[in-house]
Amino acid sequence: MKVQVLGSGTSIGVPEIGCRCPVCTSSNPRDKRMRCSSLITDGDVRILLDCGPDFYQQAFHFDYKPLDAVLITHVHYDHVGGIDDLRSFTRLSPIDIYADRNTTKALYERIPYCFGKTKYPGAPQIQLHELAPNRILRIGHLEVKSFRVMHGKMPILGYRIGNLGYITDMLTLPEESYKSLEGIEVLFINALRSKPHLTHQNLEHALAVANRIRAKETYLIHMSHDFGLHNEVEMTLPSNVHVAYDGLVVEF
Ligand SMILES: [Zn+2]
Ligand SMILES: [Zn+2]
Repeated sequence: MKVQVLGSGTSIGVPEIGCRCPVCTSSNPRDKRMRCSSLITDGDVRILLDCGPDFYQQAFHFDYKPLDAVLITHVHYDHVGGIDDLRSFTRLSPIDIYADRNTTKALYERIPYCFGKTKYPGAPQIQLHELAPNRILRIGHLEVKSFRVMHGKMPILGYRIGNLGYITDMLTLPEESYKSLEGIEVLFINALRSKPHLTHQNLEHALAVANRIRAKETYLIHMSHDFGLHNEVEMTLPSNVHVAYDGLVVEF
């Protein structure tokens, strides 16, 4: 399985517009972070994890071939703002999008021209599927399991795809979700910054959760400029935990 990180940044992106801090003005490409998304490839199966407002730019970094599914973690704009741009891929084949009830309901309201009788000519050929936590899907030969993640008080979804775990925008992980992640090889998990935040876990919490899940390798995603410089934070981490960056490819 191959995970290609398309975006590793928080909702506002890094650099933040108008900010002159050392991270936002860094010349290291690893300090530039588009909104969070990854492409999973296994054989000829291709799954997109979230589809944020940077999807248009991100799509130039991978092959123009059909996408088998898009798995959405939650309804916030940084995770769904690029769905309209899927139209270029739905020209190749229609795309199934899986999301929780909150997200599907909001998408029917926000982009009604993509669905039903009012469908606009040229709109993306997408089909929304409502997904509850603890459901198992088959996408090609891959088994996908949804599990509950708490984004502050808001319930959202995490995904296990084979032996990959993907969690973003988490503040806390319900006890039962740890079971869904038993035995995974690779974990992607959010770490916003060093200071605590109301709805996202910080680095210290991410390391504690990763230590409990015990994947062989853990990659941190959804960082803000307050996370610090990529190279400086990377040096402080345990040897099996890494700061992800846009363009990172992990194969296992
Ligand atoms: Zn987010
Ligand atoms: Zn900044």
